[in-house]
Amino acid sequence: MLRTHTCGELNMQFVGRIVTLCGWIQRIREMGGMTFIDLRDRYGITQLVFNIQGQPDLFAKVKELGREFVISASGKVAERSSKNTKIPTGDIEILVDSLKILNTSKIPPFTIEDNTDGGEELRMKYRYLDLRRTVVRKNLELRHRMAILTRNYMNEQGFIEIETPVLIKSTPEGARDFVVPSRMNPGQFYALPQSPQTFKQLLMVAGFDRYFQIVKCFRDEDLRADRQPEFSQIDCEMSFVTQDDILATFEGLARYLFLEVKGLDPGEFPIIEYDSVMRDYGSDKPDIRFGMKLIELNETIKGKGFKVFDDAELVVGINAIGCAEYSRKQIDELTEWVKRPQVGASGLVYIRYGTDGTLKSSIDKFYSPDELKVLAGKFSVVPGDLMLIMAGKKEKTQTALGTLRIEMGKRLGLIDPTVFKPLWIVNFPLLEWDEVSKRFYAKHHPFTSPVPQDISLLDTNPGAIRANAYDLVINGVEIGGGSIRIHNCDLQKKMFQVLGFTDELAQEQFGFLMNAFEYGAPPHGGIAFGFDRWCTIFGGGESIRDFMAFPKNNSGRDVMIDTPSSISEEQLKELNIKLTS
Ligand code: ASP
Repeated sequence: MLRTHTCGELNMQFVGRIVTLCGWIQRIREMGGMTFIDLRDRYGITQLVFNIQGQPDLFAKVKELGREFVISASGKVAERSSKNTKIPTGDIEILVDSLKILNTSKIPPFTIEDNTDGGEELRMKYRYLDLRRTVVRKNLELRHRMAILTRNYMNEQGFIEIETPVLIKSTPEGARDFVVPSRMNPGQFYALPQSPQTFKQLLMVAGFDRYFQIVKCFRDEDLRADRQPEFSQIDCEMSFVTQDDILATFEGLARYLFLEVKGLDPGEFPIIEYDSVMRDYGSDKPDIRFGMKLIELNETIKGKGFKVFDDAELVVGINAIGCAEYSRKQIDELTEWVKRPQVGASGLVYIRYGTDGTLKSSIDKFYSPDELKVLAGKFSVVPGDLMLIMAGKKEKTQTALGTLRIEMGKRLGLIDPTVFKPLWIVNFPLLEWDEVSKRFYAKHHPFTSPVPQDISLLDTNPGAIRANAYDLVINGVEIGGGSIRIHNCDLQKKMFQVLGFTDELAQEQFGFLMNAFEYGAPPHGGIAFGFDRWCTIFGGGESIRDFMAFPKNNSGRDVMIDTPSSISEEQLKELNIKLTS
C-alpha cells in the first residue's frame, strides 16, 4: 500500500507515530512560515502541517501544490494546539517531512466541499468530482448499506437472488419501453425491462419459491424529481402465500431497515383501504404524519341553492388550523394555486371562523349564519380556523384537496421531517376506465389477481372489482407495491379479454406466461420496492438523483458521457435502421 493509514482514522492514540497518508488536497492555508493542508480521502480529512524552518526544499515543493492534487505525505502525528471538534481527526495533525506529488489537477470547476458553489448541471458534467464531496459520497454509502442489509434480510428469510435478462420483450406496465434493435434479427427489437415481472412469476412456476433481486429497471417516461429512466427495484416474489404473508414478510424488511439504518422502531404499520385513504387524505399515498383529514360535506351543504355545490358529485373540505387571519390576498393566492393544472381544482370556497367567534365565508349569499355554524360543526373547528372547500367529480376533487392538504401541512409546519409513518394501502381498484380509448386498463398490471370475492364481477361489473394488491407508503411516498397474482390460465385469459386484448394479441405477447400456467403454476404473489426512493427517504434527500452514482438530468441525458448520442451510418445500416430526419 502507498499509505499506512487513511485520512479518517488518526487520533490522539497515534501521537508520535510516523505515518504516510494519501489523498486529495481540499484546502491550502498559509500562515507565516507554516502551510496547512486539508488532505481528503473517502474516510475523512486530516490536517497536514509544513514548516519552513529547516525544510526549504519541502517548502518549495509545497508551493507547487494546488487544490485536488493527489499527494502522499509522511510525517509524525502530533497533538494540535487548536483542535477541531467537528471532525474525528480534529485533535491531531501530521508534521510532514516528506511529500510526493502522485498527480496534479486542473483547478476544479467548482469547490469540492459540502456547500459547493457548483450548479446542478456543472456538477452532473463533472460527476466524478461531485462524488468526491462528502455529502454525495455519504448518500452512496447509505445506498450500499441498504443493499447489504436487504440482501442479509432476504437471505435470512430464505429468498435467493436470481438475475433475470435485460434484453426482453415488451411488458405493458403503463410506461413506454426503451427498445434495442437486434442486428441479427433485422427489423426486430428487444425491450429493456420495466420490471422483471413475468420472469419472477416464471421462477415461481419453476419452483424457486422465494426470489428476490436488486435490479435495474427502465421506463421511458417524462422525468420528475423522483423519476429516472433507469432505476433500481428490490424485486420479490413468493409462492404459496396470501396477502397477509407478504405484508408480514416485507413489513419485516422495512422494520429491519428502519432499525438498522435509522435506529428507530416505526411501530405497527396500519393497513388502510384505498377507499378510506382517498376519502380521508385525498391520496393513495397519504402522508399521515399530520391530520387535517378531508371532511365530506354533501349531506350538509347541498340543497341551499348554490349550483356549484348542488351539481357536484362531491363537496369536501379541510380545516386549515389557525388560518382565519389569512388576508383576501392570501386566499386569492391559494385559489390560484389550486387552479393550476398540476392541482386541477375549479375553485376554492372558504369559511373563516374569526377569533371573535363570527363566521364569514365566500358563500354568505347562499348560507345563513346558522347554516354556516352547522357546517363548521362538521369540521370541529375552533375560533381562528379557516375551512377550505372544493367541489366537483369525486376522485378529482379528493385528489385536488389532498394536494392542498399537503401544501397547507407544509406551509403550517405540521410535517416533522424526523418522523416516519409507514402504512400499507390495500384493496385498490383492479381496473381503470379510459374515456378516450373506451377500455379498461389494469391499474397495477394485468397479472394482478382480483380479491377472491370479486372474481365473479369480471363478467358483470369489472369497474367495481378490487385488486388483491398492496402498496407500502412512507411519508407520502410510494415506496413499493405488489399483488397476489393470477396463477390460473383461464382467469389470466379472461383478464386479457377484459383489458381489450384479442386472443391472438394475448397469445403473441404473453403466450409464454399462459403456457407456463398450464404446467402447474403455484399460487404466488410479490412486491417491488423503489430502491432509489427508499434510500432517498432514509437519507433525507429531495431527489433520487442524489442517491445514484451517475444519474441522468431532467431531459434524460447523461451530460458527463454526453448521451443519448447519434450513431454512425455504418452502425445504422448494420441494424437495418433508416432515419427519416
Ligand atoms: N412489477 C411491479 C412493478 O414494477 C411490482 C410487482 O407487482 O411486484 O410495479
